[in-house]
This record gives sequence, structure tokens and C-alpha cells, in this order.
Amino acid sequence: MDCIFCRIISGDLPAKKIFEDERVLAFEDLNPKAPTHLLLIPREHIAGLAEAEAQHDALLGYLQRIAAQLAQERGLTGGYRTVLNVGPDAGQSVFHLHVHLLGGRAMSWPPG
Ligand code: 5GP
Ligand code: ZN
Repeated sequence: MDCIFCRIISGDLPAKKIFEDERVLAFEDLNPKAPTHLLLIPREHIAGLAEAEAQHDALLGYLQRIAAQLAQERGLTGGYRTVLNVGPDAGQSVFHLHVHLLGGRAMSWPPG
């Protein structure tokens, strides 16, 4: 399968890994949009939130909780944002489900 995030998981493509366990991997975004910009991905290939099924419920919650843990480790006491871009209107560009963890600067609302 030609999926860049599966290639990062397999070690075929390099990435600055921040956290990994049997279910998830977190690494630095190649093109950071904030002082902290991590991506958290499941080891299982799921194309995106729209393709997630009931069997993934625990995994989706786990990704969010690990994001909170990494935000705490990064000292993001002022706050942070977790984001799932879904589909063309949201600008999803990689079709392996990923949670963005953005922090280290003030962010506007609503997002652009
Ligand atoms: P999306 O737009 O799909 O929500 O987010 C995809 C993210 O993946 C982007 O923020 C982009 O910078 C990041 N990205 C794309 N290719 C790579 C890569 O090869 N390595 C890393 N570390 N990040 C990538
Ligand atoms: Zn994949």
C-alpha cells in the first residue's frame, strides 16, 4: 500500500518520533504550523475519521488521551488544540487517520 504514514510506521520513511506503543505512534509534523505540531496516528491503517468503525472507538479515544499526555509533557499549560481534518473541505491531504496536536502559540477561532 502506498501510504506515507504506513511507511513511517514500518521505518521505511524517517520521522522524528516522540512516542510509540503497540497501538499508536506520534511524531513531529514535517511542516509545523505551531511551535509544537505533532501527529498521532494509529498503527492500523484507517483512511480517516469518516472511515472509522465502531471497533475503532477505543482507539480514537486513546489517540486523544495520548495527545493530552504529550501536551502535558511539552508544558503546554496555556492550552493547545487537537484537530482531525476530514475530507476535501477540511484539507485532509494524507489518508491515514491522524490527530494533529498544535500548541505553543495563541490560536484563532474559528479555524480558517
Ligand atoms: P492533513 O492535511 O491530512 O490533516 O495533515 C497531513 C499532515 O502531514 C500535514 O500537516 C503535513 O505537513 C504532514 N506530513 C505530510 N507528509 C509528511 C511526512 O512525510 N512526514 C511528516 N513528519 N509529516 C508529513
Ligand atoms: Zn496508512
